[in-house]
Amino acid sequence: MRTPRGMEGPFAWGDATDRATGLDGLERLERRRVTQCALSRVCGVCAEPLGRPIAFVGDAREVGRNAFHAPPLHLDCARDLLAYPGADPGWQVITAGAYEFVRPGRDDTDRRPAFVPVALLGGSSGPQPTSTD
Ligand SMILES: [Zn+2]
Repeated sequence: MRTPRGMEGPFAWGDATDRATGLDGLERLERRRVTQCALSRVCGVCAEPLGRPIAFVGDAREVGRNAFHAPPLHLDCARDLLAYPGADPGWQVITAGAYEFVRPGRDDTDRRPAFVPVALLGGSSGPQPTSTD
């Protein structure tokens, strides 16, 4: 897995060796970094600028609602993430050409921002589009 310099774990999940919380690194998204990924259009794993396709990982519920809590990823990084210790075995990868970043409204019970992929390109098991740029 490509990770940012000085980090052992994926960027938006913070340090997987976090001993303060005792949580595995993939159970805890760092909100500040998620927002940074959203606004700077960088990958949630390696923190490098995103190209296309943009990949998202989520469970069946997130896929069904087309709203993801984990930040956008490179497709290769998403695949690495699924193989990472602590990854949810129910995670699926979808790819999109773009996304919208939706901050929770005042009345939303879910206070986490969400990513809504647009221009869906399909799941990881289907044929992958060939990049032309
Ligand atoms: Zn990446």
